[in-house]
Amino acid sequence: MKRQKALSIVVKNELNNLDQFQRKLVLKAQLETIKTPQWFITDEWKSVPLWLQKQFKLGHMARGITYNQYNLIISVWLHDRLKAVSNDYLLKYLKNINIQTNCIEGNPPLLQSCPCCGYKTLSSLGNYDICIVCKWENNGYDNTYGIDDMNNPNHSSLMESRFFF
Ligand SMILES: [Zn+2]
Repeated sequence: MKRQKALSIVVKNELNNLDQFQRKLVLKAQLETIKTPQWFITDEWKSVPLWLQKQFKLGHMARGITYNQYNLIISVWLHDRLKAVSNDYLLKYLKNINIQTNCIEGNPPLLQSCPCCGYKTLSSLGNYDICIVCKWENNGYDNTYGIDDMNNPNHSSLMESRFFF
């Protein structure tokens, strides 16, 4: 099975498993991260109808947590979170939900460690991606010259952000 297909099955299943409380948390998390351009270049996001994209950007999502049309948005979020899981993980997941497949074709993308929390969350460094674990905006600063610099999109230095993470 192709990796992309396996991933969409997992996303669909995860989506169905979310209860109302979890949907609320996801949509809230989305509202915080959606403001960055990294979301808008993914194929998943482009498949969301324009009116829904607009509604989401305006912050109207919070009103209708159970509204099924938001499933598309939640799928974008799930997809982003799961995009780098190993093929082994996908195989086990599919087996657990009784989908038989022998191998996954394709490889997960290589991710870089976030300079703030250390988790492998970033597709590249210095590209202003937002870390989904600690919310650090990756401006390319590191220990060499980011420790005391407040003049960055995070409004606090890397050292402070690490401390409060
Ligand atoms: Zn981080």
